[in-house]
Amino acid sequence: MKDVFATQESEVRSYSRTWPATFDRALGSWLYDESGNAYLDFFAGAGALNYGHNNPLLKRKLIEYIERDGIHHGLDQATVARGEFLRTIDEKLFRPRGLNYKVQFPGPTGTNSVEAALKLARKITGRESIISFTNAFHGMTLGSLSVTGNSMKRGGAGIPLVHATPMPYDNYFDGQVDDFLYFESLLRDSGSGLNAPAAVIVETLQGEGGINDTRAEWLRGLSELCGRHGILLIVDDVQMGCGRTGPFFSFEHAGIEPDIVCLSKSIGGYGSPLALTLIKPEHDVWEPGEHNGTFRGNNPALVTATEALRQYWSDDELERATLAKGERVGEALLELCADHPGLLSKGRGLARGLGFAEPEMAGKVSKAAFDRGMILETSGPSDEVVKVMPPLTITEDELERGIRIIRDSVRSVLA
Ligand code: PMP
Repeated sequence: MKDVFATQESEVRSYSRTWPATFDRALGSWLYDESGNAYLDFFAGAGALNYGHNNPLLKRKLIEYIERDGIHHGLDQATVARGEFLRTIDEKLFRPRGLNYKVQFPGPTGTNSVEAALKLARKITGRESIISFTNAFHGMTLGSLSVTGNSMKRGGAGIPLVHATPMPYDNYFDGQVDDFLYFESLLRDSGSGLNAPAAVIVETLQGEGGINDTRAEWLRGLSELCGRHGILLIVDDVQMGCGRTGPFFSFEHAGIEPDIVCLSKSIGGYGSPLALTLIKPEHDVWEPGEHNGTFRGNNPALVTATEALRQYWSDDELERATLAKGERVGEALLELCADHPGLLSKGRGLARGLGFAEPEMAGKVSKAAFDRGMILETSGPSDEVVKVMPPLTITEDELERGIRIIRDSVRSVLA
């Protein structure tokens, strides 16, 4: 099977091809290759599989829907599946949190959500530039790429379409400089060319950027600064939303209310493409048809999305379990740090990471884990961070098994 990939597929094959296996089946926290070898999945589709692979509760709904010939492709039509999803997201997510958003279906994937957010922010404010942060990742289409702080990804694409100004992320100055004084001085300084941007786009915890967290007070400061200057705040929760950090939205702990929120990855529940752009009602200035596309109502994904909200967000059980599992992972990573100077434990909830001073060590740990039957990916500007992101539904036994493999892999590499 492997030859066909080398001969038939573009060289753009990405990181997940470095695992030397051809995968065939998956269930819960496990992936199986074509020979039946099992791998514990601590990557979970880069945050797209928060409820695990082929989640049985969601699978049942999907099969029922397909068997009764529920609408599969429906452009932007009003469908029962879409209506039920809209009702459920309001009931399960927005109301209990005192949030009020209108829901846009911007296209199938995360980058579509970001594109819609950038366009809308520019339309609302009549301004053009966008501020994004060092090591940010927002997607691979040209608008999203413009605000992505990764020169390797941007390299071949030429001049960004959106004028994006990179800003130091939280903790960049290690407390030596007041981030917001610096930020505001740039806004005030007309010579800087940074007059009144349309929006700031931020991940509250950078996934691709290397599991870099922000402090709640920094997020509140950012939100206040945006409010003072009439700049819209866009939170890109594509990877860190849907419970990855514990609460459904990764910004809940800071008590902020972004103007626009981008969601994708786990929102569909079952791993199928679905993206949303959440817009505060007063900002919904779209004209009908102004932002369209063929795949904007993945009805089967809406069915599993609705069921995931009902099953996992009717109470705070998943949130509490995720925080407890995250604490356990954090504790295990700190033990490794104590044994091996130079390692860094990072993250929050079940978005955790282990940082290495020498990037090649992170790659070696990922390989050593694979040899022990585990999928563990790296991230960060030099791939120096081992990402620990299992499905949120992982059992405690599986979690402990994964922790043991990480420990053994780190020890084998650093021995
Ligand atoms: N934003 C963030 C924060 C992401 O992590 C990603 C994907 N890694 C995207 C946007 C882009 O999503 P997609 O790959 O589905 O287009």
